[in-house]
Formats: sequence, C-alpha cells, structure tokens
Amino acid sequence: MTSADRRLSIWDISARDGSGRDGSGRAGGPAVPAAMPSDGPRPAHLTILYRGPLASCDYDCPYCPFAKRRDSPERLRTDREALERFTGWVAERDFPISVLFTPWGEGLVRSWYRRAMVRLSHLGHVPRVAIQTNLSSRLSWLAEADLGTLALWVTYHPGQVDYDRFIGKCRDLVALGVRFSVGVVGLPEHLEAARRLRGDLPDEVYLWVNAAEGRSYTDAEAAGWTAVDPLFGLSRHPHSSRGLPCRTGESVVSVDGDGRVRRCHFVTEVIGNLYDGSALRALRPRPCPLAVCDCHIGYVHLEPLGLYDTFAGGVLERIPAVRWAASALEPPLAVTPGNEAAPGGTVIP
Ligand code: SF4
Ligand code: SF4
Repeated sequence: MTSADRRLSIWDISARDGSGRDGSGRAGGPAVPAAMPSDGPRPAHLTILYRGPLASCDYDCPYCPFAKRRDSPERLRTDREALERFTGWVAERDFPISVLFTPWGEGLVRSWYRRAMVRLSHLGHVPRVAIQTNLSSRLSWLAEADLGTLALWVTYHPGQVDYDRFIGKCRDLVALGVRFSVGVVGLPEHLEAARRLRGDLPDEVYLWVNAAEGRSYTDAEAAGWTAVDPLFGLSRHPHSSRGLPCRTGESVVSVDGDGRVRRCHFVTEVIGNLYDGSALRALRPRPCPLAVCDCHIGYVHLEPLGLYDTFAGGVLERIPAVRWAASALEPPLAVTPGNEAAPGGTVIP
C-alpha cells in the first residue's frame, strides 16, 4: 500500500488526463455495462476504496507497523476469498464503479490482487481501477490489463529499494504506457532522494509528497518540499472538515473484506453491507463528523477543497489534471465555509 501514504494515519484503519478523455481515461465516457442487473439502488457512479484483511509487506520501512509483517496462510486465504467476492460483486453491477485498493501492506506481490486489477480493468462499467503499491512486484502482469482503465499509486521508500532499480521500474511503466503517480513521505532524510527522483522522472509523471505523520514543517522546510511537489501545501496541514460536505457516504465508500461499508477509512460507523444491498440503500449526502481530515485518500473527496477539479481524471491515482510544474498549478485552497464548492452533478473521479 504504502501505508506510508501517510497520516493515513498510517496506522489507523484507516485511498485523466487532459487528453479530452472522460474521467475513465477512455474516450466517450464510462460505458454502462453489459453486466447483470443489480437489485436495489443504482448510483450514477460509485467509487469504492477497498481494504481487505491483508496486513503484510515485503518492505521494512521504519515508519510502518506492517514492515516485514507476515500474514498466516489462513489470513491470506481469507484475503483472497474476500477479494474474489468483491471483484465478483463489482463485475455483476450495472452501474459505473471505480475502485482504489488501499491494502495494509503490499497487495501486488499477491497473485489475487494482480488478477483483480486485470479483471476489473476489462469491465466496461469500471472507468478506473487503481492500487497503492510500493512497486516491488514484477510488472509483466500489466500486459494483460486494459491500460485505459488501470492506474497505479506508487510510493518510493528510500532505504528499502535500490534507487536505480526503482527508477528503472518507473521507466518501464512509462514505456508500457501505465498511468501512475509516484510519491514519498516527507521526512528530512528523504529530501535528497525525492529531488533526485523528481529530476529523473519524466515531467509528465507527477511526484507527490505526503507530510510525515506527526511532523510539522517550518516555512523553509515546506518550501523545500514544495519545490519537489507544488501541491505539498495540501498535505502540510490537516484540513478542518467537521460539518463540511464530503462525497464519502454518498458517491464514495470504504469497503472491508466482509463487505462492511463505511463512508471512508477514517469514520468507523458502518452504514451497511455491500453484499446485502443495505449499503447502497444508505447512500446519501453526509457532512463530515470528524474535526480534521489529514489523508489524501480522504480529503480529496472533501467538496470545499475542489480537488476533483485539481485531480480531474486522476482522483484515485493522485494525478493532477494539469502538468505538475509549479507554474501550472493553482495554490491549494484553504477549507473555510466561505469557499465551499457548489454542489454539482455526478462526478467521475
Ligand atoms: S512499503 Fe510496506 S513497510 Fe513500507 S510503508 Fe508501505 S506497507 Fe509499510
Ligand atoms: S472529510 Fe470525508 S474522508 Fe475525511 S474524515 Fe471526513 S468524511 Fe472521512
């Protein structure tokens, strides 16, 4: 995952381009489906952040509790079955669904995550399927996927992987035509590596920086990170969110391996179950109940921030709609009741 994807409260339980394509990365808008009809409500579009029981990783990051953790064979079997049930459910819907896998630990070293990515990428009613990954797995499986739909949220962990190996894999992704963003955790010891990575990545590959858990940044430190990621300001401080409109619980949900649905990874209340239809019936607008939201996979859906515009076409894989260069990006908005975005229609992230 890359649970380092930050404050993500890394540890609490806490997930287009400018080419004229629709948000799906395909021309002509998300197709709706030759899938089996669904019982019950049919959302205009549903985004799902899925996190199953998997909680192990092949890396050993000092800032992560999942480092070198191993799952038992039983837990791996449960995770595989849960993922296969989830992908089967998605396949049988008849409305557009986008998916971001946000596993604890690393999913793509497991064959069932690679299979799920490939299967979902070929479904006509899935505009986007993405996963958070440390990119440690082989890449050959990508040849089986529809790369108009699949995308990767990649995190670079200096100290865990040889730099040349990592940048080589990024270049392979570019050569394959895979949509991806790359990011680092904003720890001081990562800054030089982040600068080097920024210099070596093609301009069109966005490099994001997550503020490190519990760390505050002086203006000078923030300026250093902003030179690497012009949008670092979005991550620097938690966003006040209580009472503000957030798409989660309405068009975006978090799903666990048992199908329990929460509005997001950070609000623990269960609003229903995916598999008995109760969650779809429960979808409705909900103000955020928490004081702050400090993880990108949460606040990207917080409406006053307007980040569906900033990341239009790349909300799930964290790719801005415009070129990443500082001169081309708007400064991040402050979230105040006065700059709330007007409610809009259906948005395909
Ligand atoms: S790569 Fe693995 S060990 Fe490192 S932060 Fe992500 S989940 Fe944790
Ligand atoms: S702003 Fe949205 S994603 Fe963030 S904690 Fe509140 S409800 Fe969850």
